[in-house]
Order: sequence, then structure tokens, then C-alpha cells
Amino acid sequence: METRYLIVGGSAAGMAAAHTIRKKDKTGAITVLSDEDTLPYFRPMVPYILTGKKQVPDIALSGTGIFVQPRIDVRTGTIVTSVDPVAKILTTASGKTWSYDKVLFATGSRPYLPETVKGLDSPGVFSLKTVADAAAMAQRSRNTDHVVLLGGGILNLKAAFALLEKKIKVTLVVHSPEVLSQLMDPEDAFLIRKALDRAGLKIMTGCSADHVVTDADGVCAVALDNGTQIPCRMVCVGKGVIPNTECVRGSAITVDKGILADPFTACSVKDTFAAGDVAVTHDPATGEKTVTALWTNAVDMGICAGLNMAGIPTRYTGTLGIMNATQVAKEPFVAMGRVHTKGRDLETHIDKTDTTYRKIVFNKEGTRLVGALFIGDITHAGMYRYVIREKKPIDRIKSHLIRHTLHYGHFM
Ligand SMILES: Cc1cc2nc3c(=O)[nH]c(=O)nc-3n(C[C@H](O)[C@H](O)[C@H](O)COP(=O)(O)OP(=O)(O)OC[C@H]3O[C@@H](n4cnc5c(N)ncnc54)[C@H](O)[C@@H]3O)c2cc1C
Repeated sequence: METRYLIVGGSAAGMAAAHTIRKKDKTGAITVLSDEDTLPYFRPMVPYILTGKKQVPDIALSGTGIFVQPRIDVRTGTIVTSVDPVAKILTTASGKTWSYDKVLFATGSRPYLPETVKGLDSPGVFSLKTVADAAAMAQRSRNTDHVVLLGGGILNLKAAFALLEKKIKVTLVVHSPEVLSQLMDPEDAFLIRKALDRAGLKIMTGCSADHVVTDADGVCAVALDNGTQIPCRMVCVGKGVIPNTECVRGSAITVDKGILADPFTACSVKDTFAAGDVAVTHDPATGEKTVTALWTNAVDMGICAGLNMAGIPTRYTGTLGIMNATQVAKEPFVAMGRVHTKGRDLETHIDKTDTTYRKIVFNKEGTRLVGALFIGDITHAGMYRYVIREKKPIDRIKSHLIRHTLHYGHFM
């Protein structure tokens, strides 16, 4: 009999799994249940929907590469509300039930909205997650000349630049002493901060929103905890994400921050799997449990889950707790492994110029590379990632790691 595969969530992890299963199992029935109204798309390009540079079909996942496989039935607008992993049945918000042989939870994450800030449910308050969010923000921004962004993480910086491109004034309110605090210590961020200032972003650090002030048209200001009020007609919240675990709650599937996945991406009940932002996996550098929010990680884990679901046992290599390679205000940077060193017992080497910043972090004994941060010049970052991930012995290459003279020959 054909295997019935159900996948909850049609994004990076879910679609990578679906396509992998199809390659390995030519006859099984693969159905993807997605609560979004749009067919799967490349989420990192959502800011382009906000700027208007791209339309939804331009960022669809049906283009090229690993996402092209036939006979995958994607049901949009379908919210899975519960699972009975013993009877092997999913229930959706409309009351419809779906039987399965194997199920993958690839439900991702959603923006975290702090309860301490009152009024975040007011018209004009957004978080940039979906194409629907981007379209709604674009609509509201037509009558807005100033937006306040709460949070200084990478997603809010992307939203900020999309809004600046639309010639809208942007103020970033950051509780931490500096932007990107999840990815680096405040002292590390000076080059990025300079670039953000140059780009015209107004940044207020060390303060938080207390509440959103509204009038008949929704948001009209943000009141800060230092007594200041910033007039604005739009707010964007980017204060991290939380895994979407609601649909498995109350079942025997173990949830611990996210859905717990074993080294083979399986959950605690037979024939259930988890991948992507929703899954708790392990960090190969530290061995600790971790949840991450990166497209590449979600795809890798989705492929691995797809192989396991198709009956090909495959160990997931884990995700580095911090691994981000991107560009902010034209400043490229990579952060990986342990990069927060302030007050920690680690051996740290910093090399900075007017245009580049490199921080190399070893364990306290100086015997293992545990983290690296490059800003301005990210050449050779891949080799550092390899040494961190694979826990490579460094006795012969340590001085090259510090002086940045490492080359591929050192690994031969
Ligand atoms: C604006 C933006 C820019 C980004 N830029 C980058 C970048 O440059 N580089 C990078 O690596 N990462 C980036 N990311 C992060 C990256 O997009 C995520 O890590 C990745 O999308 C995670 O994939 P996923 O499949 O695990 O989950 P998601 O992409 O979150 O998808 C999960 C899907 O499941 C659906 N779902 C949830 N619950 C249910 C349910 N009960 N029933 C049915 N469906 C459900 C969700 O609505 C969603 O469609 C960005 C994210 C955003 C929002």
C-alpha cells in the first residue's frame, strides 16, 4: 500500500522534506497542509514584497533546484489544530481529519510579542514574517512618514531598510546597549552601527516601549519606558521568534521550547518527525540543545527528515546555535559559534581596522576553536565554520586561525 505522508507547514523545512520524500518514494501520497493563503515561497525575500521590488509569484518556491518535484499536494488555508499520534490522525480548524502513516511538523516560528508592551494588537502594529504581513505593511506605509521598530535584531534591520527604501523615516528602539545583541557583544558592533547611522537609521538604545498610543486611525505614537513619546503611524515588532508548537500540545509528543527531535529528526512518538525553526535539535559545537531560525538550517533538517520518513535512516548533523551570514547596510558579516565573550572564560583574539573586524574565540584552555565573528571582510569564514563544527584539532593551525592566514592546504 502507498505510504501516506502528511507535512504540516509549507516553507523551508516542509517543502525540502516533501521534495526529498518524492525523490525517494515515487508512489507515496505527499500532502502539505499550510495555514497561509499563498503557495510556498522563499521567506527571506519577504522584504522585497514590502518594497514592491518583487511580487508573490516572483519568490515562489516552484522555480528551480531542490524544490522542483511533481505530485506534492499543497493545501493552503489549512490550519492543523491537533494531532492524535496513536490513532495517527490530524484535525484542522474546519473540523476535517487527515489520516497519515508518517507526519512531519515543520510549523516554523512566529514573532514574539512581549506582553509587557500594551497595545501591540492595535491597527498599524506589524511584524514582518509572511507575504501577507509585507502586503499589509506596504498598504499602511502609504499614509505613513515615520515607523518605529521595536527590537534591533536582523529581521527588524531588514524591515528597516525596506522602509528606508520607501523613503519612510525609521526609528529603531533597542532595549540592549547595541543592535544585533543576539549575534555579537555590543563592542563588536561598531562597524555595523556606523553603517546604520550612515544609512540614516535613527537608533535609540537602552530603552523599551511601554505602550502603543492610539487614536481613531490606530497607532499614533509609541510611549517609551523613559517617558518619551515618539509620534508614528506604524510600528514593527522584531523581538525574536517563538516556535509554533500549539498543534502538538496535549499529545504525547514532547515539547521543550520547540518540538524535541532526536538525532534522526524523529519526535518522541513513532512515525512523527520535526524539522526547521520549530524543532529542538543539537549544536554540534557545544552538544547543547538548540533552536535556530535560519532558512539554510531548516532546509538541511527538512531534507534529513524527508530521508528518514522515506525509510532511509539519516543522522542530522545539528545546527550551530549561532550561524548567521548576511549583510547589513552593505556591511557583510558572519557570526558563528560562541561569539559572546564578555565576562566569559574564553581565549579571545580581536583584530580590527577602520573597515574590518575579526574576533576569534577559543575555549578557555585555548585548545579548540569555538566561535568566530567577521565584519567587513568575510573571506575564509567557511573554513572557520568547518573547524568549529567538526571540532578539528588546532595545534598546527592555531596561529593561522589567529592571523587569518588559514588556507585549504592546512586541511590536506
Ligand atoms: C522577513 C524574514 C527574512 C528572513 N531572512 C533570512 C535570511 O536572509 N537568511 C536566513 O537564513 N533566514 C532568514 N529568515 C529566517 C527563515 O526564513 C526561517 O528560518 C525559515 O523560514 C524557517 O523555515 P521553517 O520551514 O522551519 O518555518 P517557517 O518558514 O516559519 O514556515 C512554517 C510554516 O508553517 C505554517 N504553520 C504553522 N503552524 C501551522 C499549523 N498549525 N497548521 C498549518 N500550517 C502551520 C506557518 O504559517 C508557515 O507557513 C528570514 C525570516 C523572515 C521572516
